Amino acid sequence: MIQVQNLCKSYNNSKVLTDINLQVHQGEIFGIVGQSGAGKSTLLRCINGLETFDKGKMIVNDTDISLLSENELRLFRRKIGMIFQNFALLNRKTVLENVMLPMECWKYPQRTMKKKAEELLDMVGLAGKMKSLPNELSGGQKQRVAIARALTLEPDILLCDEATSALDPAITKSILELLADVNRELGITIVIVTHDMSVVKTVCDRMAIITGNKIAVQGSVASIFLDE
Ligand code: ADP
Ligand code: ADP
Repeated sequence: MIQVQNLCKSYNNSKVLTDINLQVHQGEIFGIVGQSGAGKSTLLRCINGLETFDKGKMIVNDTDISLLSENELRLFRRKIGMIFQNFALLNRKTVLENVMLPMECWKYPQRTMKKKAEELLDMVGLAGKMKSLPNELSGGQKQRVAIARALTLEPDILLCDEATSALDPAITKSILELLADVNRELGITIVIVTHDMSVVKTVCDRMAIITGNKIAVQGSVASIFLDE
């Protein structure tokens, strides 16, 4: 599903990623762990084509994304959802309006947008909060809205950038359960970037650890933690 081959990336001559090789299989939950500044967000942005890289290949869904034109990239990105640590919701729009935004960008008919947004909000357990503003919600509820929004265009892949890092452990657990449901029930491949090893242990099938700009270890979560 995602193949990263010898990918290198620097900012102003300082290396952020060196010879990254990764395979994310279709239908799995893949974790990328590393300390702050390790280059995890940069790698995620390379996966959805928001960031260019200096060397190597990024093949997503059998497409070499460095060969895509701007317009092809736009279509490609449509099939990749993303969620963030800070939720990235628009505070002046209601929960329902926030979830409808990506569909508005793609000019879906009003009725389709509303129906799809309502279905997804129901799925994430927020059927009663459609008219609320983001500031009236807890952190966990805000992340649920962001997840619903990320699913509106029916992505193949969901990228999660420190999505539970602002949440306390109990809420983190419930968000990870929701992500596992999304993976299992909708068949969406999920990539989780985090500094928190326990997140990966809880929910991921396979994982990679990034240290010193490189992948130090890659494999099944079970095999990597065999000794514990
Ligand atoms: P992580 O997500 O693991 O915390 P990042 O990918 O955000 O790491 O950042 C990796 C390194 O690259 C950091 O040293 C960061 O300051 C630097 N960096 C990230 N984005 C940029 C940018 N747009 N321009 C210059 N340096 C950047
Ligand atoms: P994260 O660790 O989640 O990536 P950061 O605070 O490191 O968050 O980065 C937030 C934004 O700032 C990103 O878009 C990143 O590209 C940019 N950024 C990070 N470090 C630098 C830097 N040294 N110079 C320029 N932009 C940066």
